[in-house]
Amino acid sequence: MSVAENIADVRERITAAARRAGRDPGEITLMAVSKTFAVEHIREAYADGLRVFGENRVQEFIGKAAALRNLRDAEWHMIGHLQSNKAAAAAELFTAIDSLDSLRLAEKLNASAEKLGKKLGVLIEINVGGETAKSGLAPDSGDLEDLLMAAPGLDHLELRGLMTIPPFTEDAQEARPYFRQLRALRDQIAAQRLPAVRVDVLSMGMSHDFEIAIEEGSTCVRVGTAIFGPRKGS
Ligand SMILES: *Cc1c(COP(=O)(O)O)cnc(C)c1O
Repeated sequence: MSVAENIADVRERITAAARRAGRDPGEITLMAVSKTFAVEHIREAYADGLRVFGENRVQEFIGKAAALRNLRDAEWHMIGHLQSNKAAAAAELFTAIDSLDSLRLAEKLNASAEKLGKKLGVLIEINVGGETAKSGLAPDSGDLEDLLMAAPGLDHLELRGLMTIPPFTEDAQEARPYFRQLRALRDQIAAQRLPAVRVDVLSMGMSHDFEIAIEEGSTCVRVGTAIFGPRKGS
C-alpha cells in the first residue's frame, strides 16, 4: 500500500474509534512519526494533508529540516528523549517538544526559546508503566509537581498537556489501563487549576494501539509504521 492509502486507512480507523467512544473525530490529531524516513516520504504525507510530524532525534532532524523548510504550515514535534545539551538546537528546530521530562530541561528550553524570540509548545512525558528503561516522569512524583509549579516562570514554553508511551504488549488491549491512567492524571491536574498549566492535549496511541487510546480519550495519536511501513533496523 502507498503512503496515501495508508493514511486513508488510518483516518478511517480514527473516525471509527472516535464514533465508538461517542467522540468527535475532529478533535483527534494524526501525527505522522517520520523518524528514520526520508524527506520524500514526509512530503508525500504532507501532500495527503498531514501537517503534524514527529521526530525523535535532533541530529537526524538537523539533516532533514533544511529540505523541508518550504512546508511552511507543518509542525515539527520532538517526541524522543532530549538531552539537556541538545536543548538549544531542539528549541530552534522544532515547533514543540512533546517529551519534556525534567525541570532542568524545561529551564534550558525556556532560555533557548527566549533567545530565539519564540514560544515552544510542550507536553510533559509521563512514564505510566514505571519502566526504568523509559524516560518520563512518574505520575505521583515530586518532580512532576515541581515542574507544574514552575510553569508560570517558564514564559517561553506553552504547556499543553501530557504524553505517554505505555509498556509494549502484543495485545493492544493491555495498554488500555495505562491510557486510562494518563487521562485520570490529566483530569486530576486540570482540577487543580494551576497557573500557566493547560493539559488539554493527551498524546497517546501508536500504530498498534491508537484505536484503544482514542477510546480512552487521546487527542493526538503518533503513528509511524501504519503510515510509512516498517522502519529499517527496528
Ligand atoms: C516511533 C514512535 C512512535 C510511532 O511508532 P509506530 O509503532 O511506528 O507507530 C510513536 N511515539 C514515539 C514516542 C515513537 O518514538
